[in-house]
Amino acid sequence: MITLTNRSKPVNRKKMTFLESIYIWNTFIGMMITLKHFFKKKVTYQYPEQTRPYSPVFRGVQILNRDEEGRERCTACGLCAVACPAEAITMEAAERLPGEENLYREEKYAAKYEINMLRCIFCGFCEEACPKDAIYLSETHAPAAYNRKNFIYNKQDLLIPNPKTQPEEYAQAKGLREINKKKK
Ligand code: SF4
Ligand code: SF4
Repeated sequence: MITLTNRSKPVNRKKMTFLESIYIWNTFIGMMITLKHFFKKKVTYQYPEQTRPYSPVFRGVQILNRDEEGRERCTACGLCAVACPAEAITMEAAERLPGEENLYREEKYAAKYEINMLRCIFCGFCEEACPKDAIYLSETHAPAAYNRKNFIYNKQDLLIPNPKTQPEEYAQAKGLREINKKKK
């Protein structure tokens, strides 16, 4: 008989002995295998209490960046949306009004900024395209949701905490990746 692999085994049809027919010996072997694995190092993680360390090149959910004074960096130029191969980014631009200089770094800002996480392939092209260091992919993955609408992340979902009013949250959101990037 011609086989594609040499892994096929002929079925053994020999008559069972009395000991085999009461399955005690086979059950005992099975229990020994279980016991052996019981004391071995566990390869599973008790998620969400435990999380697996990600690779240093992991790219997760996008963050809309602020400058050191807490102003939004995004100038709604649209380059990230043009670069996005999945057409996941939409935005609406607005003009900064007098007195809003402490909120927006540039004269134009994104009044609306959305990323559809069901489309995003986390390629990082938006980050590459941005001339203002306004968007980057963080070390956090997008959490699961029951509703498609919950995968449309708006500006408030994406915006990093203000470094002036929430310095701890800001540092946490920045994460190691951004710190390492600065060191290079
Ligand atoms: S990571 Fe890639 S797919 Fe996702 S929004 Fe950015 S450019 Fe689009
Ligand atoms: S995130 Fe960057 S590339 Fe995208 S609109 Fe804002 S400034 Fe432009």
